[in-house]
Amino acid sequence: MKIDKLVLPHVRTLSAYQAKEIPCRAKLDANESPFGFSIPSDIVRSLPTNRYPDPEGLALKEVIARELKVKPANILLGNGSDEIIYYLITTFGGPVLFPVPTFTMFGIIARALGEERIAVPLDGAFDLDLKKMLPAIRREKPKLIFFSSPNNPTGNCFSVERILKIVESAAGRAIVVVDEAYQPFASEQGFLPLLGDYPHLVILRTLSKIGLAGLRVGFLVAGEEIVREVNKVRLPFNVNAFSQAVALDVLLNRKAIRKNIRVIVTERDRLLGALSKIDGVVPYPSEANFILFRVTDPDKTHRALLEMGVLVRNMKGVVDGCLRVTVGTPGENRMFVAALRKIAGKEGFSGRHGKSRDSLRMTK
Ligand SMILES: *Cc1c(COP(=O)(O)O)cnc(C)c1O
Repeated sequence: MKIDKLVLPHVRTLSAYQAKEIPCRAKLDANESPFGFSIPSDIVRSLPTNRYPDPEGLALKEVIARELKVKPANILLGNGSDEIIYYLITTFGGPVLFPVPTFTMFGIIARALGEERIAVPLDGAFDLDLKKMLPAIRREKPKLIFFSSPNNPTGNCFSVERILKIVESAAGRAIVVVDEAYQPFASEQGFLPLLGDYPHLVILRTLSKIGLAGLRVGFLVAGEEIVREVNKVRLPFNVNAFSQAVALDVLLNRKAIRKNIRVIVTERDRLLGALSKIDGVVPYPSEANFILFRVTDPDKTHRALLEMGVLVRNMKGVVDGCLRVTVGTPGENRMFVAALRKIAGKEGFSGRHGKSRDSLRMTK
């Protein structure tokens, strides 16, 4: 029997998300924090393993709500924000519109759910292109519009005015989701304060980029009506007891979280300066915990870095010609810069390359 004949056509043509473990000394490919938290042993010991977790994760929601100055009823917890993206598309359906290049999960999940995707290229400065976005919204009538700001993989925040134009043009027709996974590293404050003004606005946040990727905890913040609707499709025990308990404990330690973020932001700006001084390397400014940079031969550079123990992300197919490096510990960052300098010297990356962002090629 051919199993694939039984698979829904839009699933048959998918391929599984690649996340294989590649041994390296500096893992700078997945935008994780280089700083973890230790888990108090009494938390682990006191977990009743035979009981289901709190289905609503109320204690965790209360801590998050207090921190963000919203109500627990404005929050929905997910097994990572990836799961929330899944729930949003399950709840509101497509077409799903998003600018590109961006976080690939918006498109991957829309495809998995058989929904139509509309990818609108960003402008030459990696900002939202209203001349393309606004007509696309009118023409395609999306049910959901996703942005990530700061944007993965470009690193910049989109202009607030442009986001607001889109939010306003979507009023009454579509849900607008601002994915703020990297907000803790940004200089601007994000869109939470605007939730009260726009009942169709959703903010996504995650604990993954601030040192808790292993727990898989993300959440949505929105008006109560949206939370109630999305909650209907949420699987009952989607955030496990261990993750709820550990996240709760770590979030109470706000000082440590903030200190780690400050170190990463300082390191990011230092790294940006170092990269811009390497011949043939063009880094893009970043408000996140990673830096996108252009090199003459990305495949070769990616491989050469790995041979020296440094794993970065090859953005082939998302932003051709570019690699993305996550900000690591000061030691990891030094190791990365030294390796890249060595490769640049050997390969003779030359100044003649130095492409501007206008020449960026984007794929759909
Ligand atoms: C990493 C990332 C996420 C994933 O978050 P999880 O909570 O780990 O699922 C979501 N959105 C963007 C833009 C990201 O870069």
